[in-house]
Amino acid sequence: MFFYWPMDILIFIAFGLSIWAQFRVKGTFNKWSDTRVQSGLTGYEAARRLLDANGLYDVPVEPIPGALTDHYDPIARVVRLSEPVYYESSISAVSVACHEVGHAIQHKVHYPMLVMRHRMFPVVNLTSGVAPLLIIAGLIFQQFNFLLGLGIIFFSAAVAFQVVTLPVEFNASSRARELMVAEGFISNDEERGVAKVLNAAALTYVAAALISVLELLKYIMIFNSREE
Ligand SMILES: [Zn+2]
Repeated sequence: MFFYWPMDILIFIAFGLSIWAQFRVKGTFNKWSDTRVQSGLTGYEAARRLLDANGLYDVPVEPIPGALTDHYDPIARVVRLSEPVYYESSISAVSVACHEVGHAIQHKVHYPMLVMRHRMFPVVNLTSGVAPLLIIAGLIFQQFNFLLGLGIIFFSAAVAFQVVTLPVEFNASSRARELMVAEGFISNDEERGVAKVLNAAALTYVAAALISVLELLKYIMIFNSREE
């Protein structure tokens, strides 16, 4: 009762896309890590300057261990950059650093999708732990189809969260690209590499959201087929 073949095939394809996207983001990052930016800025310097240029003097930039662990923490209001991004002066490092600053700017200007994402977070945090249990129980015990229905409602919150993440990520990247050129961090001919790095990262979010949407559709279809 766990399978619903037409959807399972689509989910399988989306899963393949997701794995490919994760390999690709690493590969693209490594490739453009070898190309130094002409401005000579490190990821840290680019992030610091971009924050200051946007009046975010009180948002610190900190190095953290790991690869591709870069993020903006909206609660602590800190931009955290993985060590290679923080210390290096490459197209990859500067692109990722400025993308994270893009999130800090979104936070400052109350970018609507980011605000929505923050509001959804506590709900999603609560429901995403319970949703799989309800869905599995609902799939096993066909006579309790309402469990599956309840699981679907809870899982919907997580899916909505992932979908709202997409415009947030795309917007942070487009802000980063525009500002990097405007501030002179990169030249026009370096922008191609920046776009490759940022687009590769965006694709991983698209693939993850796609898997969730398809899974949700699958559960809805199973639920409906039982109600008939
Ligand atoms: Zn991001």
